[in-house]
Amino acid sequence: MAGRVLVTDIARFAVNDGPGFRTNVFLKGCPLACAWCHNPETIAPQPEIYWKRRLCAQCGRCMDACPEGAVFPPVDPLEAMSEGSRYHKIDRSRCTGCMACVQACPYGALEIVGRPMSVREILDEVERDRAFYMNSNGGMTLSGGEPTMHPEFCIELLEEAASRSIHTCLDTNGFCAPDLFESIVKRAGIVLFDLKHLDQAPLEKLTGADSRLILGNLERIAARKTEIWVRIPVIPGFNDDLEFHQRASAYLSRLGESIRRVDLLPFHNWCQDKYSWLGIDWVYRDTEALEPSFLEVHAEWYRRRGLKVTIGGSGFEAAQEGQAA
Ligand code: SF4
Ligand code: SF4
Repeated sequence: MAGRVLVTDIARFAVNDGPGFRTNVFLKGCPLACAWCHNPETIAPQPEIYWKRRLCAQCGRCMDACPEGAVFPPVDPLEAMSEGSRYHKIDRSRCTGCMACVQACPYGALEIVGRPMSVREILDEVERDRAFYMNSNGGMTLSGGEPTMHPEFCIELLEEAASRSIHTCLDTNGFCAPDLFESIVKRAGIVLFDLKHLDQAPLEKLTGADSRLILGNLERIAARKTEIWVRIPVIPGFNDDLEFHQRASAYLSRLGESIRRVDLLPFHNWCQDKYSWLGIDWVYRDTEALEPSFLEVHAEWYRRRGLKVTIGGSGFEAAQEGQAA
């Protein structure tokens, strides 16, 4: 038994993370730290606290409850406004995660991020959507964070899902020891593989990752005839230039039939609130979202190479093709 891992969310009726309706299970913890990350609450492996400023009444009970003196005292709202509305702050370097402040808050302004769950507890929740899978060729998508950070848990969850006849997708950044990676991947129905860049320098600068490990894993599982949907988050100033997509399309077309499709995922900033709730100053805070239409030219490179490409990653077309087959 693989015990329990922290889950940040189980999102129902997702339509962009594999075929049909998906139930997305987000495991907490990631070995990378992508500067644009759209799920910042999944990066740290330990439980964290959201502080929602708009719900905070500045009553100060969290400060009284904290045994570490990690909560800054609330101050007068007018004074706070002159300080840029930073009228409550957790010093996260002093926080031990005891969650006494969360229990003490009477207004729901503090929230624990990361719920320990077992394989069985997750699947019992996933099972509630079974009827929607049957009508859409859907299933469960295991995401994060990086699910392969919890290898034993992943294997058990994917095997148990298969034994319950639940289709699975594994959403991964590929940053995992090769043998371990293969043993996890072979248990998933489809691998959703995040390709962020081909070059080491920009990849390391913005994610901390080693491109050789990631590309090596992609090439290895492609050679094993795994069904792979490559997902490219298109980030302004990082990989939104046409030259990158010209090279990426050539590279992916060389990997053969295992690459069933390429999803171009335009950068968005809907996650700004999460950064604010976690007390993180997000470097992309003032960056404009990319319009899907901006990527039509980029998509053309993949089409020219004979690759199926989407902008946004809807899985419904693929589900219908599966039903027709
Ligand atoms: S979790 Fe515990 S240590 Fe951290 S801020 Fe809250 S009360 Fe303080
Ligand atoms: S206990 Fe809740 S409402 Fe009161 S100051 Fe702390 S976060 Fe704000």
